[in-house]
Amino acid sequence: MQGLMQDRPLDVAAVMRRVEQLFGHKRVVTATVGGEVVATWQQVVARARRLAAALDLLEIPPQARVGTFGWNSQRHVELYLAVPSSGRVLHTLNHRLYAEELVHIVTDAADDVLFVDRSLLPRVWPLIDDFGTVRRVVVMDDGGAEELPSDPRVVGYEELLGRVTEPAPPAVVDERDAASLCYTSGTTGRPKGVLYSHRSIVLHALMLLGVDNFAISERDVVMPIVPMFHVNAWGLPYAAMLAGADLVLPGPAMTPEALLGRMARHRVTFSAAVPTIWRGMEPLLGDADLASLRMIVCGGSAVPDALSRSWQEKAGIPLTNAWGMTETSPVVTCSRLATAHDDLDADARRTLLGTPGPPLPLAEIRIADDDGTGIGELQAAGPTIAAGYFGADPGKSSFTPDGWLRTGDVGTLDQYGYLRIVDRTKDLVKSGGEWISSVALENEIMAHPDVHEAAVIAVADDRWGERPLACVVPAPGRTLDDQDLRDHLAGRVASWWIPEQIWILPEIPKTATGKFSKTALRALAAGRDER
Ligand code: AMP
Repeated sequence: MQGLMQDRPLDVAAVMRRVEQLFGHKRVVTATVGGEVVATWQQVVARARRLAAALDLLEIPPQARVGTFGWNSQRHVELYLAVPSSGRVLHTLNHRLYAEELVHIVTDAADDVLFVDRSLLPRVWPLIDDFGTVRRVVVMDDGGAEELPSDPRVVGYEELLGRVTEPAPPAVVDERDAASLCYTSGTTGRPKGVLYSHRSIVLHALMLLGVDNFAISERDVVMPIVPMFHVNAWGLPYAAMLAGADLVLPGPAMTPEALLGRMARHRVTFSAAVPTIWRGMEPLLGDADLASLRMIVCGGSAVPDALSRSWQEKAGIPLTNAWGMTETSPVVTCSRLATAHDDLDADARRTLLGTPGPPLPLAEIRIADDDGTGIGELQAAGPTIAAGYFGADPGKSSFTPDGWLRTGDVGTLDQYGYLRIVDRTKDLVKSGGEWISSVALENEIMAHPDVHEAAVIAVADDRWGERPLACVVPAPGRTLDDQDLRDHLAGRVASWWIPEQIWILPEIPKTATGKFSKTALRALAAGRDER
């Protein structure tokens, strides 16, 4: 016997209706090259409905992929609404990728049309003839001075909206239909497409509203610093719409000074970014007015505890650790402190906050503990977790026979169900048959007051198989001595973890999503070996 409840789809159109009907007066603020633009949610949704009709004018077929190269902006939010609600698939592209990767991704996704911020045109236009499937390029004028190519494929966003006579009614979609597409960062091979459904997007947004999670509410002013091309800005725009929060979008103004200024000016209460961003702001914290902040989420790579403590000390707010990946929508776990574990003392609770925390409702995680040590590969399952990949390289090996996602991370779970990430499988250092966690070692090195950043990689060693090599960047105006660093590590980590090789570098190379690029460091190390 089936339940007798209404079978209405969990779809993006429902999110759109809600923000329009209940929170039309709330605001979306965008920083553009030319200054700040402010709109109400009502205006944003009205424009999104016109945009949906414009997609019809461009004769974009149902299910076709609509690519975007955009900063975090109001127009990008309009695309987040119009593309899925009109039955097409939003494909957000990372504009920091190399040309060859972009061509691969656009071709693999078979993007039909690209929407490009004017200031990003120089990254895209030179490749246009390599993007075999792209018929049109819609330029979003963000105040950039870049010249517009005179080419019949190019049309302006506002001009296109101006051509619309009637806004389009939402298409009828099945909640399991594809809504958006994002490629993985491809650190272990070619990037792979993760195809989110309407249902997974709505469920993920709801999960973020939970009080033990991000607790996003109508009272919030949400500023996603994480780019809108990185896993739907971690789902924050959709969560802000469901909750009725204001949204502040930093556009191309990504310097620490600009971000801090914007947070203070708009009384931002909630923000999220990768560690590199929070680290960049940290030296400026003394002068910043951040009293409005209630939660700042850090994830996407290991969250250094010293950085979180420094934010706590200087800005009165720690970093909230959250774990996820492109394949998981992305948020799967979120650390929490205040609401749980009254039985623990302050130190133990502080330690729990430093972990990625327990899973959100509906997400399940387990450790494949093959050798009984309690440490093993982290696997995830749930309605917001990928079941397979889109495109030419489906990569079946990423899933277990019972359908769980193999994350490639190595972790542990404690008695409270809190996750700890030991490492990426391929970043562990195996020395003398024992594992060294590069993440733990980096964390201890970064606790040194004169260290700005540290990344540890494995290098081949005749005696031990592998040894850790630490690449360390001094804090601005400081110098570092490798023996001093070893003395600092003594007592903090096992003596055999302490690296013999420490390189002092001006910076750690970063990936296109702002994470430490261990691939680039390995190439650097290999190059030095040859010499
Ligand atoms: P991406 O698909 O680019 O978002 O990268 C996902 C990967 O980032 C995960 O598999 C982890 O290795 C890493 N990651 C994400 N969040 C965390 C976290 N809170 N702590 C440690 N590593 C993380």
